[in-house]
Amino acid sequence: MINYRKGVTFVLALAFTTIALSAQVFQNGQLTISKLKEHVWIGETSDNCTLYLIEGTKKSLLIDTGTKCDSLDRIVRRITSKPLDVVVTHGHYDHTGNIGYFGAIFMHKADFSMVEGQGYKGKVNFVDEGYVFDLGDRKIEVSHMPAHTPGSIVLLDRANGDCYSGDAFGSNQVWLQLQPLSPITDYIKACKRMLAFIDNGIPRIYCGHYVYLKKPIGKEYIAKMLLLAEELKSGTAKDVKPFRADVPLAGYHGPLIAAKEDVFIVYDQAILK
Ligand SMILES: [Zn+2]
Repeated sequence: MINYRKGVTFVLALAFTTIALSAQVFQNGQLTISKLKEHVWIGETSDNCTLYLIEGTKKSLLIDTGTKCDSLDRIVRRITSKPLDVVVTHGHYDHTGNIGYFGAIFMHKADFSMVEGQGYKGKVNFVDEGYVFDLGDRKIEVSHMPAHTPGSIVLLDRANGDCYSGDAFGSNQVWLQLQPLSPITDYIKACKRMLAFIDNGIPRIYCGHYVYLKKPIGKEYIAKMLLLAEELKSGTAKDVKPFRADVPLAGYHGPLIAAKEDVFIVYDQAILK
């Protein structure tokens, strides 16, 4: 005899799987690309980096390139045939790992030394506050948000209310312990500017890692991060512990991790001076 409840559960599970699979447009062992919304795709690598592809009526824009995705250029071409610009949100290797597949990239000048160190041979175009990628029906605007790195940028799609943040604003934490260090005041300023963008019609922030959490971050997250950063600056943060992670570019001291409920700031104490 068929168990009715089990049967319903099975049908529902099948339906959800079908929906998830239908959103997926590419998958191999390194990269999965799914449709995020109309003319926007999200790529998630096997090591939890995220990249985004936005297609306009005239051009397309690839935001970040992941750590290791073989033939990323050809994979992107399976999805969009429009002329393509490639922009990296900052110079860390987990965002620039595949720029070698593209003849030119856009980035902020302040992170250029990182890309130089990675041996990129293509053309580097520098962008700064207010630069607009004109994709036709979509305009994607650059805002400079130093803190995670000196050259971190976020990409704003004002008309659609979306922000693509790289690591400037992460899924549940920000890393401020990597060299070259930026002062905590940079991050406080970035949070305040992001809150202003949110209040001006950009409520959704899609970040650079762990988006399998499957939801953009928003006002509540940034507001909590701002509070935690201000507590660190004033010396009133309550929950601070040593942070243990084996990553290159670590700061001058042992990194620390400060928590406020479900958000975290990893930092080097030198940024508080
Ligand atoms: Zn980074």
